[in-house]
Amino acid sequence: MSTNSRLDKIVADARSSYEQREEGYRRKALGMYPWVCGRCMREFNNTNLKELTVHHRDHNHDNNPQDGSNWELLCVFCHDNEHQRFVEQVTYGDDKPGPVTTHNPFADLKSLMDKSGKD
Ligand SMILES: [Zn+2]
Ligand SMILES: [Zn+2]
Repeated sequence: MSTNSRLDKIVADARSSYEQREEGYRRKALGMYPWVCGRCMREFNNTNLKELTVHHRDHNHDNNPQDGSNWELLCVFCHDNEHQRFVEQVTYGDDKPGPVTTHNPFADLKSLMDKSGKD
């Protein structure tokens, strides 16, 4: 087996395990919640079920508690909106305080003063 095909296999394995995991929590969420979009209340059945997606409330796809508390069923449109809103919230902020600045403008001044004091 060449290095390339070995790499391909690793990538394929990773991808299929991701898909399996996604399939796993999707099936579980669909078994747990009514097939209704949590935003627009559109109802789903077996014919259009692929348009109903599982959203992670905290936007962390690795957070899949078995009680389903991090899942929400959203149609693809509302799911898109939800993520757009999240991006805007992160980018522009709303009620959150601004980014914490770790730079202290007086740090240099103090070291300068310390230096001059020693002379
Ligand atoms: Zn919807
Ligand atoms: Zn989502």
